[in-house]
Amino acid sequence: MSDLSDLYQEVVVDHSKRPRNFRKIEGAARAAEGYNPLCGDRVAVYVKLDGDRVADVSFQGSGCAISTASASIMTETVKGKTIKEAGVLFDSFHDLVTTGNAASSRATPLGKLEVFSNVSNYPARVKCATLVWHTLQSALRGEQGAVSTE
Ligand code: ZN
Repeated sequence: MSDLSDLYQEVVVDHSKRPRNFRKIEGAARAAEGYNPLCGDRVAVYVKLDGDRVADVSFQGSGCAISTASASIMTETVKGKTIKEAGVLFDSFHDLVTTGNAASSRATPLGKLEVFSNVSNYPARVKCATLVWHTLQSALRGEQGAVSTE
């Protein structure tokens, strides 16, 4: 168990120090901002769609290691998925970080997102992990204004 925890920890640290897709997409079709006042995490998500498929997705912002790593891994996971698939992944990821296991993950493999299963032991960090996903959903729905977890 501790070996697995170490591995998970390494992935989170790696993504928080060297976040992937940390940039703005100029002319992004969709964008949204999110804020988690409990921790102070701020994130902006940019999405470029090709039909109903996510052709490109990126983020910018500042926050704790969990929120940054979650945003980084989210962009890697969602790129190339349809809007519907991204929604299913979010449901599954939300299950994972709130209960420690995702019932639907057999149908929708979470892949690298599994590194956040430990977050369920730290309820205060759930919003850090899910902020970027809420913000992505807002961007995909084309909503105006900022998302707040409170
Ligand atoms: Zn945070």
